[in-house]
Amino acid sequence: MATADKQRIRTDRADFLAYRTLCPTCAAPVGPRFVTREHLDIPPDPPYAATVRCPKGGETFEVLFLEAR
Ligand SMILES: [Zn+2]
Repeated sequence: MATADKQRIRTDRADFLAYRTLCPTCAAPVGPRFVTREHLDIPPDPPYAATVRCPKGGETFEVLFLEAR
């Protein structure tokens, strides 16, 4: 499957950690337990983004974290 097929969503890190972020395809709640890869390339507060696998449908998507203030 092409990388371009992967969906990308933005979420607040606190929401993600509390499983208040929803899968863009089926709206299942996702959180840290379903991360398959963290992207640590942007300092100083990693992870900046993560690849998440939906626990319901099994699809993967990118989660970009909004900057916490
Ligand atoms: Zn899903």
